[in-house]
Amino acid sequence: MELTRRQETILEIVKRSGPITGDQIAERLSLTRATLRPDLAILTMSGLLEARPRVGYYYSGRSPNRVVAEKLCSVKVGTIISIPAVVTENCSVYDAVVAMFIKDVGTLFVVKEVGLLEGVLSRKDLLKTTLGGHDIHQLPVGVIMTRMPNVIYTTSDETVWSAAKKLITHQVDALPVVRSATQADGGEGLEVIGRLSKTNITRLFVELGEGQ
Ligand code: ADP
Repeated sequence: MELTRRQETILEIVKRSGPITGDQIAERLSLTRATLRPDLAILTMSGLLEARPRVGYYYSGRSPNRVVAEKLCSVKVGTIISIPAVVTENCSVYDAVVAMFIKDVGTLFVVKEVGLLEGVLSRKDLLKTTLGGHDIHQLPVGVIMTRMPNVIYTTSDETVWSAAKKLITHQVDALPVVRSATQADGGEGLEVIGRLSKTNITRLFVELGEGQ
């Protein structure tokens, strides 16, 4: 986080003399309280300063990097996910390619029954099969997909930071967002309720950069 020279000076004053009121800071800088208002707002919103009514401003003791890290760790997957694009296991490779274009996604999730997770299909899974001389109108995606239990997934209440680490560690572009559900045979399954892709994370990154 980039601070202006005046914001740096305010930070120094508060570090040395806090708790200190806005009026006292303004006096030291020979400025009006109104002039300082936007700077104080930025410093408190970013978490570098804290303000207590009738006490004043004091330094939170957190570095700008720490503040950004805390923000990243506080955002939950459920707040930034997209709608999942799904097909069933017996869908042909051809239809899956069409679905990928129409739904404008790079990863399809393969589901059974009421949306229970069975597998994942990436762009290259489909491309490889298409180049491989198969009859893509006949070949079902169940033959080529990455299948459970090898699918890496996330949940709505996992932090975005932790889910992003999964994308990097496992070198995949997207994770299905799931919740537990009961299968027709009474066993436990995972219902697909969303999609977390690198795009969702990039969007959050841009929003954080804009100070939202
Ligand atoms: P691409 O293959 O287009 O580069 P990915 O990097 O996402 O896209 O996929 C690489 C491989 O990992 C593919 O074989 C795909 O089936 C598999 N894959 C994709 N997403 C997941 C996931 N969430 N869990 C497990 N495997 C996945």
